[in-house]
Amino acid sequence: MPSDETLDALLCRVRACTLCAAGLPLGPRPVLQAGTGARLLIAGQAPGRKVHASGIPFDDASGQRLRDWLGLTHAQFYDPQQVAILPMGFCYPGKGHSGDAPPRPECAPAWRRPLLERLPHIAFTVVLGQYALAWHMPGGARGVTEAVRDWQGHWPTAVALPHPSPRNNGWLKRNPWFEAELLPLVRARVVAVLDGQPRQPGANNPSDRDN
Ligand code: SF4
Repeated sequence: MPSDETLDALLCRVRACTLCAAGLPLGPRPVLQAGTGARLLIAGQAPGRKVHASGIPFDDASGQRLRDWLGLTHAQFYDPQQVAILPMGFCYPGKGHSGDAPPRPECAPAWRRPLLERLPHIAFTVVLGQYALAWHMPGGARGVTEAVRDWQGHWPTAVALPHPSPRNNGWLKRNPWFEAELLPLVRARVVAVLDGQPRQPGANNPSDRDN
């Protein structure tokens, strides 16, 4: 792939990707978001069935909770010049033994590095789930809980959070410190990272919040 390829050109090629089509039960439909000015990166797992249908990242209960965790309005979250959303697999991988299957293993090796190279302003990465953890924090904590507890390990450039899926409600109940102590720090970091960027109209209006 040419090193001088623009992010827009690369995104066009990603959105036309059929590399692992044979392993995708609903076929390829890459769902991602990125702009060259993005300062916050959300490194997630893979789209679920609802997101596959809408084509909008985190257009589900997980996204509603994630926006609340990060203190982001809908407008901010979906502004690619502020927030890049790159799951470890861009297409819905189908059902697994419990919940959705893992992200397709072909995806990150094919696309992740060239995309990240074209996002020079990322100042804070929110790492969601074990697959993103293995890529963005290799050799560190053994599991998600340990990585979240060890939040200072990559601060202030990255933090691991549990996946915001409703499937993790039990984890959140067992770890009340996460919402009480860590999330306020994460929200403050997100404000600091996005501060100074042009905001979309209404982005600072509390009534714009969707949860
Ligand atoms: S999951 Fe990734 S590698 Fe597979 S078809 Fe979708 S974009 Fe291509």
